[in-house]
Amino acid sequence: MGAKPTQSRRSFLKGLMTAAALSPAAGRLVARPSASPPRERLSLFRYSDVQLTGGPLKAQFDRIHAYYLSVDEDRLLKAFRQRAGLNAPGEDMGGWYNPEGFAPGHCLGQIISGLSRFSEATGDAATQAKVRRLVEGFAATVGPDGFAYMNRKAANDFPAYMLDKNLIGLLDASRFAGASSAQEVVPHIMKGSIPYLPPRALEQDSHRAHSPYDESYTLPENLFYAYEATGTSEYLDLAKKYLMDDSYFDPLSRGVNAMVGRHAYSHVNALSSAARAYQDLGDPKYFQAIRNAWDMLEATQEFASGGWGPNETFVEPNQGKLGASLNTTHAHFETPCGAYAHMKLARYLLRFTAEARYGDGLERVLYNTILGAKDPKGDDHFFYYSDYHPAARKGYHGDKWPCCAGTLPEVVADYIVGTYFQSPEGIYVNLFVPSEVRWQIHGMPAKLVQTTSYPDSDSTELRLELPAAAEFALCVRIPGWLRSRAEIAVNGQAQSFPAEPRTFATLRRRWQNHDTVQLRFPFSFRTERVDAQHPDTVAVMRGPLMLVAIGPTVELPKDLVTSPNGFQPAPRPPAERPSFDARVGMEKIRFMPFYAVQEQSYSTYVTET
Ligand SMILES: [Zn+2]
Repeated sequence: MGAKPTQSRRSFLKGLMTAAALSPAAGRLVARPSASPPRERLSLFRYSDVQLTGGPLKAQFDRIHAYYLSVDEDRLLKAFRQRAGLNAPGEDMGGWYNPEGFAPGHCLGQIISGLSRFSEATGDAATQAKVRRLVEGFAATVGPDGFAYMNRKAANDFPAYMLDKNLIGLLDASRFAGASSAQEVVPHIMKGSIPYLPPRALEQDSHRAHSPYDESYTLPENLFYAYEATGTSEYLDLAKKYLMDDSYFDPLSRGVNAMVGRHAYSHVNALSSAARAYQDLGDPKYFQAIRNAWDMLEATQEFASGGWGPNETFVEPNQGKLGASLNTTHAHFETPCGAYAHMKLARYLLRFTAEARYGDGLERVLYNTILGAKDPKGDDHFFYYSDYHPAARKGYHGDKWPCCAGTLPEVVADYIVGTYFQSPEGIYVNLFVPSEVRWQIHGMPAKLVQTTSYPDSDSTELRLELPAAAEFALCVRIPGWLRSRAEIAVNGQAQSFPAEPRTFATLRRRWQNHDTVQLRFPFSFRTERVDAQHPDTVAVMRGPLMLVAIGPTVELPKDLVTSPNGFQPAPRPPAERPSFDARVGMEKIRFMPFYAVQEQSYSTYVTET
């Protein structure tokens, strides 16, 4: 269960490395195995239904898309080709990815997966072509016996982890990038991988001779996906076999906190396997498990950013461990991987419940963790940990191509599918981001255009484009962080109807073409303490954003945040995000959103005095 603290830091961090998986389940593949729709109150849009049209999410989306489009295919495939005896041009990848590295070839499948999602989201032909070339290049290296690992080391050390990533790459390439040949590769790699898999989902155990850090408990999600895509019942049987019921999902379903001490990211990722189990098998135990786990995360594990798992490990609740970690580590949240798993879990729970609280959680993690990740700068190093230590600086993982290099394109592409949801009654607006979404109302094409500068501002406008008037529900998330009433107007006329925080406000009416809805969610300052044992150690929040102090350890008078002139907008060049100055005595302390921090030294938590 997680790495032991006696290890060296390097092997500890490596041992705790992780990865990802997912299945967006747009429901347009063959052989849908069971009646999943009744368990979903909301459904996802396809990546191609939604366009981001501006703002910081789109800017990051475009940068990450461009970066992964530029990753050299020969480098990615080199060691796979060498193993297969093929011509293998190109430079070594280095780091974890190399044949002798920690996890040889680990993120090829995730890069294919991420590019596939970007491909469907943008319709970009170059991205689609790259996915096809990567799939064909990878398929050419699969042995006659189906051996698809980069080498024996990968097969022995990470048999499940590697299969999980290869599966998501092939399935997403087929589903999202039109690479139909990808799905034909699946049975081959399954055949070649199964002999290396453990007999059941194993705990992580640093004392195990083989594969001590493999993540076999994350396999079911993509095995359910493989079954959904191919109809092969063997994959369904395998999915059931690797559900970690006894030590994880069963206790979680009974409200027992089985997370404590476990490797954080991979065990949040494993919750997506429980979500798929609920979706595909219908056993409410799995629904209870993920719902309870979400509550435990919020109540006992989360920093103000929504991130969790200092040193990649879940803490014991009610012991002040989060607060204590601020000064003892710089590894507070494994950001791309953790945000990927967190936002995926939030989407499953949103779909099952239509409860806005999960949208709140998705928003919190998006704006305050992954949106603040530093971009890859082309030297094969990647942002990994969010650092909440006093006087921290954002940086890159010391090793090339860590796990977070694989989840980064997936999590950022997934901004698209976290923004809007739909139900038979209408459309749900979950995120406030400049964007457009197209859908059908009774077979009629409809479009919603959202215009906003959120989170720089606290308002947004939704405009409907309809070929004819239509009655449906427009449901808008009213954020849980609101401290005063949401303001809602339709065509400029103020409306008064239920719009409680942490709910979706439902505007049901007969909508006309070009109807508009104006919303304002007044931002206010507040503090959130790190844990009950450190009541004076707080993060400063404004609306959805966590603001960090620029500079070293900071002390703030207790009432400053709520006093009318406590925080003043700071002067800024037009291209910069809004920041604020707190006046403490003769001193001014600059606060800015975590996501906007670049090279500055910053302190996430301050001391209230
Ligand atoms: Zn990672």
